[in-house]
Amino acid sequence: LVSRKLKPEDTVVSFDNGAKIGDKEKIFVFGPCSVESYDQVDAVAQDLAAKGQKFIRGGAFKPRTSPYDFQGLGEEGLEILKEMNKKYGLNVVSEIVNPAHFEMADLYVDVFQIGARNMQNFELLKEAGRSNKPVLLKRGLSATIEEFIYAAEYIHSNGNSQIILCERGIRTYEKATRNTLDISAVPILKQGTHLPVLVDVTHSTGRKDIMLPVAKAALAVGADGVMAEVHPDPAVALSDAGQQMDLNEFDYFFNEIDKTRQLY
Ligand code: PEP
Ligand code: MN
Repeated sequence: LVSRKLKPEDTVVSFDNGAKIGDKEKIFVFGPCSVESYDQVDAVAQDLAAKGQKFIRGGAFKPRTSPYDFQGLGEEGLEILKEMNKKYGLNVVSEIVNPAHFEMADLYVDVFQIGARNMQNFELLKEAGRSNKPVLLKRGLSATIEEFIYAAEYIHSNGNSQIILCERGIRTYEKATRNTLDISAVPILKQGTHLPVLVDVTHSTGRKDIMLPVAKAALAVGADGVMAEVHPDPAVALSDAGQQMDLNEFDYFFNEIDKTRQLY
């Protein structure tokens, strides 16, 4: 169902605030790794709104490697994100890790994110397929492109065609970056499927010093947009402290990538 052979024209995911993903215009999804407090998210949301952005990301349910790390604020985190939607008109993108949570999260979230660690959580994929909101599906840590496409197929075959793919880097032997961004996956996914494709430059590189050229490369190879993490004070962030941009770094990154966006 997600194959371009079956449907040659691009799928465009549209939102009430006029935003579109997969249209000609490139889009951005920025925001903190985790929702930590109202003020923390508000600082980022205000900046995004001032930059004319239409989306904000933030995790309320965090799939952490260690059970002793911050697990997210849960529903309270989603409430904070919903406040940002009301205050600034930003579409909320947030990760769901439990199939039983879609109904609750539907009150707060505009895009359900399925994280890399859950790309083959088939019950979660089926439930996302039964929901009627767009799903942002991230590529699994060690998933082949074929497995990634089948995961999208799970969502589509359960009734939801509003799927956005996100390449976020895969595990290789290389240690210079957090993961290895599979840049060639972007044109392969664009050719093989009709779905929009985003590139997450934060979790793929894990390095702020190369995020900008990597984001430019993503747009150049045909990605429909870029995801990156921004935090008002990354040093005290409860997750991914080392790789989130502060608002000054983000200002520079944004201006540069926004110029690049207009080239494609
Ligand atoms: C995230 O985007 O918040 C996240 C946890 O990323 P990933 O699932 O790609 O590791
Ligand atoms: Mn993160």
